Parts: sequence; C-alpha cells; structure tokens
Amino acid sequence: MSASTGKHVTVIPGDGIGPEVVKAALRVVEAAGIKLQIDECEAGARVFAKGNATGVPQETIDSVTRTGVLLKGPLETPIGYGAKSANVTLRKLFETFGNIRPVRTLPGVKTPYSDRNLDIVIVRENVEDLYSGVEHMQTPGVAQCLKLISRNGCEKIVRLAFEFAVAEGRGVVHCATKANIMKLTEGMLQHAFEDIAPEYPKIQAKHILVDNCAHQLAMRPEQFDVIVTTNMNGDILSDLTSGLTGGLGFAPSANIGSRVAIFEAVHGSAPDIAGQNIANPTAIIFSAAMMLRHIGEPQAASAIEHAVVCTFEQGVHTRDMLGTGTPTSTTGFADEVIANLGKRCIHVAEREHGHFKVPPLVESVERVEPKSRRVVGADVFVESLLMPGELGRKVEGLVADSSLKLAGIANRGTAVYPEVEAKVGLVDHYRCRFVSRAGGKDVDDAQLLDLLQRLTTELRWMHVEKLQEFDGEEAFSKSAGQA
Ligand code: NAP
Repeated sequence: MSASTGKHVTVIPGDGIGPEVVKAALRVVEAAGIKLQIDECEAGARVFAKGNATGVPQETIDSVTRTGVLLKGPLETPIGYGAKSANVTLRKLFETFGNIRPVRTLPGVKTPYSDRNLDIVIVRENVEDLYSGVEHMQTPGVAQCLKLISRNGCEKIVRLAFEFAVAEGRGVVHCATKANIMKLTEGMLQHAFEDIAPEYPKIQAKHILVDNCAHQLAMRPEQFDVIVTTNMNGDILSDLTSGLTGGLGFAPSANIGSRVAIFEAVHGSAPDIAGQNIANPTAIIFSAAMMLRHIGEPQAASAIEHAVVCTFEQGVHTRDMLGTGTPTSTTGFADEVIANLGKRCIHVAEREHGHFKVPPLVESVERVEPKSRRVVGADVFVESLLMPGELGRKVEGLVADSSLKLAGIANRGTAVYPEVEAKVGLVDHYRCRFVSRAGGKDVDDAQLLDLLQRLTTELRWMHVEKLQEFDGEEAFSKSAGQA
C-alpha cells in the first residue's frame, strides 16, 4: 500500500481505556498507508480536574475548528453535579447534529443473534432533546428537564438518515418516536419524517413507536436497516444494537455536522479495565475507518474493515468476546489486524459507501412562520402544600375579578381540580391553567402580569408558560384526565 500525503486531523486520546485503544487505531491507520498530520489535544477528566468547567480547553476547540475532523477517545463525565459532559459540549459546539452508529454481525463474535446477519444503522439526533441540558429544580423536591425539539433539527436528521440510506444502497428507514405520548416534541420528528419521506421514493419509510422498536430489535432485528430517532431514544437504542452484535467494544460512530465530523467508539472510558492492555480496540478502529472514508481515503477504510473481520475469522479475540484459547491484548489485536491488511474477509458482504449530502448549517435564526398566532391563556406553576380543592378555591378567590379565569389544575400532568374521584399521588408542584374569562379572547402580557401579581400575594409561583395557538391549532398539551 502506498503512503498518502498527510491529512490534518485532531486526536483526543481521552480517558480510561481511551489512550490504549486510540493508539491501537492510529497504528492500524498508519499501517494501512495513511500518513495523518495529527494535532493531539486534551479534553475530559484531566481538563475538568484543572478547573475548566467545560472539560474542553480553547486549544482543543481551535484545533477542531482548523482541521474539521476529530478522532476522539472516550471522555469521562463527572456524574450528577455541576460540570457538563465534555462529549456533549464537543457535539454541541461543533453542531454535529447527526450521530451515525452502524453495527453488523461479525464472524466469531458470539451473541444470541450471531446467525441473524444483522446490518443496522442508528441515526441519532445529537444536539437537541433532553440533552439540551436545560434543567431546573422547580421546588426543592421536583426537577424539570426541558425536552427541546425543533422542526429544523428534525428535518436535518431525517434528511441525513435518508441521504445516508441512499449512499449506502439501503432500502428501509424506520423513524422511532414516542409520538403517541409526546405529541408535540416526538410528534414533530414523526411529522418531519412523513413530510420528507416522499422525496425518497425508492426507500421504504416506516414509523414505529420506540418502545415497540426496542421490542422488535430484541425479537426480529433483521427487519431493520436504518433507524432515525431523537437523541435519548438513539442513545439507548444504539447501545441495544451494539449489544445485539457483540457489545460496546465493537460499535463505532460518527458525529456529523456541516463543518466538523467527530469519530469515536460508542463505549465510554471503561475505568474498570483501563491501563491493563485488555480493552477491545475494534470500535475505535472501525470509527477510524469511518473517518478515513470521510477524509477521502475509502480504500484504506475498506482495507482496515476487511483486516479486522479477517482477524475475527482467524479466531483472534479480546477478553470481552467469547472464544477458545487465551484472549489477546489490545496491542496484540492491533498487531493481528495490521498483519491482515491486504487480505479480504469472507464472512461480511461488501457494502456501498457513497458520498452522502449533509444538510448545511444555516447562519440565520431558523423559524417556522405561522399564518396566524395568538395567546389564549397561561400555565402558572406554583409550589404549594395545599390539597387540590383548597388550592383551587384559593386561586379562584385570588383571580375572582380578573380578566383571566382558572380552567383547571394539574399535578405532574394529571388533572386534579376541579376535583376528581381518582386518588392521585401529589407533590408540591401544581400547574394552574388560566384562560380568558370572556371566552375565546386573546390574552395580552398586561393581563398575564396582573395575574402573576394577584397570585404572588398568597402563592409561590416558579414558572410561567404562555398558551399559544398557531394557525388555529392549540400549541400545548392537555392534562391526563382533562376533556
Ligand atoms: P463504558 O465505559 O462504556 O463501560 C461499560 C462496560 O462495558 C465496561 O465496564 C466494560 O465491561 C465494557 N466495555 C466498554 N468498552 C469496552 C471495550 N472497548 N473493551 C472491552 N470492554 C468494554 O460505560 P460506563 O462505565 O457507563 O461509563 C464510564 C465513563 O465513560 C463515564 O464517565 C461515562 O460518562 C463515559 N462515557 C463516555 C462516552 C464517550 O466519550 N462518548 C460514552 C459513554 C460513556 P466489563 O466490566 O465487562 O469489562
């Protein structure tokens, strides 16, 4: 294989097993004849420890901005308190909105699904949803996380999924959502999918509820080809699909944006096995192959994929795989892959890998313009220890001569006032819904400010949400149990 001229890429070795597996992948890339000009940068645990709350230093941001390509080891995220995930920061900073996570049945990698010939790609929205990271403690005992989904974000991920399917000669795209429950957020992805699918008439487009998708993946995974889904659904489903094909040690991923692409294994830093030279480097080697395809080195990418599969065909296995004989080390596995470069595997069929179009980043503020819009009321969230009946009567009294009237009260989404027969578990977090007393009238900000002033005399409110109508459609959900 001939050596090519160096392409610039940023490399973050990462935490835990990261440095070991990234080093193995870079050795394989070099042995495949690709000379990369590597900008080695830091992010993750060591950076958090130095007091940088983002876990991503400016030099790393500058490098990725320059090169546009990042090969990244896993980064540890301090759980629970304060600091944000450095992974999420990198994905969001560079607007890598699409996370492509392919898995395939691999020879010699034993799972209950080894004979199913699986070849599934999860296309996960990567920057919105619950991972927007907008969280508040609304009362000392009740937390809220905003699930932000935009029409533009949905259109981009759906287009990416269809473009990817076309480029790889795939036949079916499923869209997995929880639109039956979250009609506005998850439903937005379903609507975008149904609107865009006709532009790709050669591809079968199917919507599936995400819980059924998980069930079907366990029962009959071979029916799936490409699955496009929201961020958290995709996070979970892609760990599931990697489990079907051998585990986290085998699953690569590409975070795709219009200017930057980040390639990494799906797995994390696996601190329990770090520093022992026993981690499986397959996932990051496959991720590096995806990176090579992205930077215009498709032959080297293919050669590496064939060499990895040949290695499995020869029965070589790391500790996380079932197999006979002594498992090989991280470095030993990379040595075997390097020795197999140039060989063609027999068990995994070649797949097309055409260039796929990535929806561009629009520089202006994206917006859906309704023909008509109006405010029809407001939800005011209050912290209270009163029982629903007492709270309802108190609120009715406070707004008795106001232009807005109380339409109902809900507790964690269930209607509790006017009082209901059913016994509902209550917390100190009520949603009071107000609409115009005159009926069907628009509500203005002066009315809402007057409402808050009245409530604040005797109640503690912590959150207000306008109730809007766009194009005559209610742009808010009802409570469970509300007519
Ligand atoms: P994890 O690091 O993926 O590890 C879970 C388990 O999977 C490990 O304990 C190990 O199991 C096995 N495993 C994972 N990768 C392996 C490999 N290459 N070879 C062999 N076995 C492998 O998940 P976690 O323990 O939940 O997360 C640890 C840290 O990683 C956390 O700080 C988390 O935030 C971070 N994380 C980072 C990323 C990322 O950078 N993209 C992704 C996920 C998690 P055994 O016990 O069987 O050895």
